[in-house]
Amino acid sequence: MQTINNISLKPYHSFACKETASHFSIITSEHEIEEVAKWSKINQQPLLILGSGSNILFTKKYEGIVAKMELMGIKKLNETASEVLLEVGAGENWHYFVSYCVQKGWGGIENLSLIPGTVGASPIQNIGAYGVEVKDTIKSISAYDTFNETWVNFNNNECEFGYRTSIFKNSKNRYIISKVHFILQKQPNLKTDYGVIREVLHDRNIKNPSLVDISNAIIQIRTEKLPDPKKIGNAGSFFKNPIIPIAQFEQLKNEFPALIAYPTSDTSYKLAAGWLIEACGWKGIQKGNVGCYEKQALVIVSYGAISGKEIFDFSELIIQSVKNKFGITLEREVNIL
Ligand SMILES: Cc1cc2nc3c(=O)[nH]c(=O)nc-3n(C[C@H](O)[C@H](O)[C@H](O)COP(=O)(O)OP(=O)(O)OC[C@H]3O[C@@H](n4cnc5c(N)ncnc54)[C@H](O)[C@@H]3O)c2cc1C
Repeated sequence: MQTINNISLKPYHSFACKETASHFSIITSEHEIEEVAKWSKINQQPLLILGSGSNILFTKKYEGIVAKMELMGIKKLNETASEVLLEVGAGENWHYFVSYCVQKGWGGIENLSLIPGTVGASPIQNIGAYGVEVKDTIKSISAYDTFNETWVNFNNNECEFGYRTSIFKNSKNRYIISKVHFILQKQPNLKTDYGVIREVLHDRNIKNPSLVDISNAIIQIRTEKLPDPKKIGNAGSFFKNPIIPIAQFEQLKNEFPALIAYPTSDTSYKLAAGWLIEACGWKGIQKGNVGCYEKQALVIVSYGAISGKEIFDFSELIIQSVKNKFGITLEREVNIL
């Protein structure tokens, strides 16, 4: 295992700030996962596994070892008349994997097209978009337990998946995911419930969409709505959509009739955080090198911020004003370090 000292993290995360790490390494095998975990223990340096850094904000120097996951490989383990079982290395690019499956005619993740990041990070916050969450296609996950220094296998029901969360997110840095096992469908149920997907299909005059049509529609929607991290630093949605009890929702709805919310159970509602932020006047606002994206208020963008702290401070201002106006405390979706 090779380590580099005092490296800039700018090329390794989508906010592209100039924070540094005291040590850096690249993981390409399960053996190197064990090695980096051992190195971190022996040298008493914290360990951070990095995918492609599209859901991370470094606000200061990382005093420890950052290990970039590049364990690759897509393997078909089993195939029946209706399903395929795939084993995918944690370092594979997520969108590449989605496109690979779409081309093969294996359905289940096409609505998650163009989400930046790696396959290994996809279960961490249970990535989701356009009515689909990755948890619905995951069979199991192989991970290294850095506490007990053993390999563990998590079946889907042991991953504690929820809205933008999982056991991996909650037990920070304990598990290093090496491989994810997916079950995909050969005769998939296409999810076109989102109005915007139907609109794009209608505009393209597509009546019986294929997996490729759905994926292309999602790519078009995302390209039009979200900033490209290669051009403008960002990490997608900066905040989670808050889930609140029904009584609180009814009170807010009385006061703010335009409030956007969806029931999540008999007792709770999920509020559109983007709407709350926009209603506080933040959409399109820039302060210094940081701004609230003009097409989607949930996205904080960097116009060349040098320090992640500047971005963090901007997010604090948004949290404070949403709290003052609606009494709701927004939770960050992005991992802050
Ligand atoms: C433009 C844009 C749009 C986005 N849209 C969406 C969206 O629609 N839906 C959505 O859910 N997310 C979205 N995201 C967020 C992001 O793409 C996902 O969270 C993605 O899964 C992050 O992958 P990554 O490899 O970049 O993870 P990183 O940012 O590198 O890491 C994220 C976290 O996972 C941990 N981690 C990463 N890999 C491993 C591993 N192998 N083992 C253990 N821990 C690991 C890291 O330590 C860190 O805590 C968007 C981001 C951007 C920039």
